[in-house]
Amino acid sequence: MTSLRRQDNYFDGGWVAADTTSTYTVVNPATGDPVTVIPETSEAQVDQAVRAAAEAWRTWRRTNPFKRAGLLHLIGDRVAAAVDAIATEITVEMGKPLNEARGEVRKLAQAFHFYAEETTRTFGSVVPNAEDGFTSIVQREPVGVVAAITPWNYPVELVGWKLAAALGAGCTIVVKPSEYSPSSAVEVFRCLDEVGLPPGVANLVLGAGTPGRALASHELVNKIAFTGSAATGAAITRSSSGVVPMSMELGGSCPLIVTAHADLDAAVTGTVRRSFRNAGQICIAINRAYVHEDLYPAYLDRLRERIAALVVGDGMKQPDADMGPVTNLEILERCDRHVDDARQQGARVVTGGGRLEKLAPGYFFEPTVLADTKQDMLVMHEETFGPLLGVTPFRDLADAIGAANSTPAGLAAYVYSNDLAETFRLGRELDFGNVAVNNVDAGIMNAPYGGRKGSGYGYEHGRAGLDGYLQLKHLRIRHGDGHD
Ligand code: NAD
Repeated sequence: MTSLRRQDNYFDGGWVAADTTSTYTVVNPATGDPVTVIPETSEAQVDQAVRAAAEAWRTWRRTNPFKRAGLLHLIGDRVAAAVDAIATEITVEMGKPLNEARGEVRKLAQAFHFYAEETTRTFGSVVPNAEDGFTSIVQREPVGVVAAITPWNYPVELVGWKLAAALGAGCTIVVKPSEYSPSSAVEVFRCLDEVGLPPGVANLVLGAGTPGRALASHELVNKIAFTGSAATGAAITRSSSGVVPMSMELGGSCPLIVTAHADLDAAVTGTVRRSFRNAGQICIAINRAYVHEDLYPAYLDRLRERIAALVVGDGMKQPDADMGPVTNLEILERCDRHVDDARQQGARVVTGGGRLEKLAPGYFFEPTVLADTKQDMLVMHEETFGPLLGVTPFRDLADAIGAANSTPAGLAAYVYSNDLAETFRLGRELDFGNVAVNNVDAGIMNAPYGGRKGSGYGYEHGRAGLDGYLQLKHLRIRHGDGHD
């Protein structure tokens, strides 16, 4: 039996073996084979990493922003050059098909270049002062040491957006990636290591709850950037001192409204892409569709046809597959539960509905559409985070808007309609941080991306993504009246 590779932590400028025998084994979800062993990093070692970040911040905060930007550009170049190595780790550990993983890595490289540019465009302002002889300057300063805690579904983008924005802003950072897919973050840190960042500026600790809790509650952390489930977000909020600023990118249960004036083909194409890509494991996946009754039968028929053509498989063997496995057993079981619940309450299975036993022991679930769903079925208000879509017909648009807004989720909503007044109404009334009309790409790099209500607060992407790592200082200087 070959021994599994072990990953190390990275802090204070070097790779450091863990000081613990407690470990976690990562499993390839397409095959069920164990692939990687990571340490459940101890509190003591998390403390060393945070202290390294705090020490490094004393210098990094004053490092010329053009120099910081230059380093970010170099990291972006390195990440782009390492696309295959990083993408392979993503596919092997969380299951998304290799070509999709390559796309994620390329987008991460762009994020480093984007924040390199934004960094050099960050400046404060001089504000008018009611009294002569004073100048009021508003400066923008980095918040300090950032704790970044991330999930497994976009294992490098969710790490990298935080890294790029925090380092650009002049913060230092300790990253704790998900225990399900840590090795792609390790590869990104190899890129950081190669460009010669000063020791302690970017640090990586591996493991699950122990390092996560130790990091989120550390007294020297000045900002928590969290992406993950609402339950963990709430636990972090409870365990923090209460005065540490946080960004919380939490789960969604995202609705789609297809009105009577929609282009049906476009709506079906958008649904297939946004419900089943990444096996539905996207916080902005379409989980529930409200379709006007005139289009409802045709929508379901076309959806069934399109889904029949999807290729599902091991994304290492079939890099172009449309869908890989779900990442862990918990999700597979949740898919079963949500299908059973809907069936028992009278929903109709249009396609799919069960595990793909021929691909077992891989964690494969069929792309599944449930029709005639009711709002109190689990699939319609709890995030499945798997390849499941619930569909309900509506007659009155106000009812569809009411149902879409009726859950705690506020991350993203989608609309298909070619009626201008209708699109503006929906854009106004849907209570979500991102609303995409006649497209399904709710997040783009230069627009703020964030949730509201139970989906959290704070933003990534765009100028707002950098602002989250900056704080304002009002500097008021008395220097005489300044008159001739
Ligand atoms: P999770 O909350 O289980 O884990 C997220 C991270 O928190 C992991 O690194 C985990 O080890 C760590 N963690 C667990 N317990 C902790 C604790 N007590 N203290 C500190 N850290 C702890 O989430 P997940 O299952 O990895 O990810 C899926 C969830 O993430 C879904 O709900 C999804 O919607 C959400 N998500 C949201 C966005 C967004 O942008 N809003 C993006 C991607 C995923």
